[in-house]
Amino acid sequence: MQHLQMVDLKRQYQKIKPEVDAAIQRVIDSTAFIGGKDVKDFGEELAAYLGVKHVIPCANGTDALQIALMALGLQPGDEVITPSFTYIATVEVMALLRLQPVFVDVDPDTFTINIDSVRNAITSKTKAIVPVHLYGQCANMEPLLELAKEHNIPVIEDNAQAIGGTYTFSDGNTVRTGSMGIIGCTSFFPSKNLGCYGDGGAMFTNDDALAEKLKMIANHGQKVRYYHEMVGCNSRLDTIQAAVLRIKLKHLDEYCDARRNVATYYDNAFKSNPHIITPFQAQYNKHVFHQYTLQLKNVNRDELQTKLSEKNIPSMIYYPVPSHKQNMLKEFVPANINLPATDMLQDCVISLPVHTELTEEELKYITTNFLAIIDQLTK
Ligand SMILES: *Cc1c(COP(=O)(O)O)cnc(C)c1O
Repeated sequence: MQHLQMVDLKRQYQKIKPEVDAAIQRVIDSTAFIGGKDVKDFGEELAAYLGVKHVIPCANGTDALQIALMALGLQPGDEVITPSFTYIATVEVMALLRLQPVFVDVDPDTFTINIDSVRNAITSKTKAIVPVHLYGQCANMEPLLELAKEHNIPVIEDNAQAIGGTYTFSDGNTVRTGSMGIIGCTSFFPSKNLGCYGDGGAMFTNDDALAEKLKMIANHGQKVRYYHEMVGCNSRLDTIQAAVLRIKLKHLDEYCDARRNVATYYDNAFKSNPHIITPFQAQYNKHVFHQYTLQLKNVNRDELQTKLSEKNIPSMIYYPVPSHKQNMLKEFVPANINLPATDMLQDCVISLPVHTELTEEELKYITTNFLAIIDQLTK
């Protein structure tokens, strides 16, 4: 097993190569590299898939989050509630806009934003809440949306890791992740569940006026060319990426199911081991396993990673340092911050390869060796 990787984009590409190659060639032949029909069609196709009115493509997931916050008209010092346990981009854009990120804890089972923690963090200065659907699991949106509505606070979903997932409300209504907040944001970074062949991102909304504003901000604050109404930025999805995404979107459900099958295989292999807590799947959602992330109990994680790599089994720690402990964000963190679940998870999580191309033989190799190493380390 020499070729195991966290994500195997090569084998995935081989299966769709004729279609992808033809689409890329078609864009090159047209020499229309920015905008055009592919970008427009992709936006419409993704909107139909998600069940939202508007999709505004942009350059990457980080820009999507930044533009979403800008569109809400937030002012420096406004507070934005978000989990510390996330990829840095979620919080970095807040710091960049001089907003005050207010870090809350996650639920130790789902790894997503803890509702009680949010309730305790709301003040008169709270101007937005940004839940993160971490590792492919949707945050518990129903109570979060109720709480936000009570206080009239907009919710922006960071859906970069969960596109393709669903959330089911208590009345049985099932919707796509990213379609519930006033704005949903995603990334098409190559390794994401819907990844392109470079950088890309998008924002989703059902609000016509907000869609217009998001579009303007992503385009130098202009609606009419060379008439700039507000300070924006330059954030575009390029045409080649849109052409690739149109092909991959057709496979997204199948890709998510393949990831879920990998997770089921791992779950079955690991569930009875006292040193492993397999990922909890909340009833309310279809978890799409952007990552398969275990919690280790009384296992030396560094030694485990060393021994895994001796067997050519890749593993990753997402994320070794939570946002509230990053030097970058020092000035935004109160001295008395207390996020016990986040601190606990930082030290015990480990992620194993999960992608659309893993074979049963590979999964068997990974799980057999993983369990043997755990045994060895805990004897
Ligand atoms: C990947 C990711 C982003 C940023 O996306 P980019 O396209 O890399 O800018 C933001 N939030 C989360 C949770 C992510 O996983």
